[in-house]
Amino acid sequence: MIPRVTATVDLAAIQHNLHVVRGLAPRSRIMAAVKADAYGHGAVPVARALEAAGVDALAVACLEEAMELRQSHVIAPIALLEGVISSEEAALAVYERLQIVVHDHWQLALLEALPASAQLSLWFKLDSGMHRLGFPLADVPRLAETLRRHPNWKLEGWMTHLACADEPDSDVTPAQIARFDAALAQTTGPRSIANSAGIIAWPQARRDWVRPGLAIYGCSPLATHSAASLGLRPAMTLESRLIAVREFDAGEKIGYGGTYVCPQRMPIGVVAIGYADGIHRAFANGTPVIVNGRRVPLAGRVSMDMITVDLRGAPDARVGDAARLWGADLPAEEVAGHAGTLAYELFCGLTQRVHFRHL
Ligand code: PLP
Repeated sequence: MIPRVTATVDLAAIQHNLHVVRGLAPRSRIMAAVKADAYGHGAVPVARALEAAGVDALAVACLEEAMELRQSHVIAPIALLEGVISSEEAALAVYERLQIVVHDHWQLALLEALPASAQLSLWFKLDSGMHRLGFPLADVPRLAETLRRHPNWKLEGWMTHLACADEPDSDVTPAQIARFDAALAQTTGPRSIANSAGIIAWPQARRDWVRPGLAIYGCSPLATHSAASLGLRPAMTLESRLIAVREFDAGEKIGYGGTYVCPQRMPIGVVAIGYADGIHRAFANGTPVIVNGRRVPLAGRVSMDMITVDLRGAPDARVGDAARLWGADLPAEEVAGHAGTLAYELFCGLTQRVHFRHL
């Protein structure tokens, strides 16, 4: 049976992108974000590929994601970005040699309740201005004191997260970095600030550790730079096929709501992919799709199982031809812009109906 919709993930591209990040931050260790099923790319194969390419650590959101990797024999250090939410989770995290990112005092209390002999490995997350997770910067002396009381606790480092790293002209990032540095001026331990945008746009954010996610999957986090200009290779190609090609007269309306009106007699192609596969209904008329190697625009609303495209630019297109939604020649970040979203959300939004192939 031929899979209807296929996401092909090029693991060599993922390994290549890891090397690109290494080249950008040669003095930093790399913690690659593989949370949310490796941004929808498949956590286990991606983690294995990154491990084989020498990644220093992996980051997941929660214990469940880390357990999937450990049960698949991924032995690399794994950080839990959300930390733990119960003493049971804390004990399991210690047993599985996971690094716990601690962001609040209630989490510290859970860890302090573990047996004193527990070999804990932890990060302290500080809130330098994003105001999502993290200890207030003023808590640093208290945290350092807590560490001194627990000789079995290994501090992996101090981490913070940037709110506006993808805005190269913003003064928010330098302010966050300055606050983080000032708060830690009297304290030792490795530091980590930068996500993908931070690594690329803010050299001063490349510290002992960097934490790339999007760049590992081959996307540019910056509107000002294409992935290709950064040397990144998109890892995922999403493809379906044409299941109908039909001619319509000028004035005919296509699809639900008739939002596309044919300007002339023209061929319309129907591609077997829709919002039930993860193609957002928000995609506007004009969103590019590649049919037979040519870019053609979306014409009409995305429906559950189908999209319709204007085939005037690909007059030789036939039923059965491949239709690519994104890939090396059509960056997901460009496509995402047509739905007012980001590549992150496109990748994470793919549904179980999509067949995955890892090369
Ligand atoms: N670090 C933390 C704490 C994150 O939450 C994320 C992702 O959201 C990353 C790093 C990686 O970010 P990006 O995919 O933008 O590189």
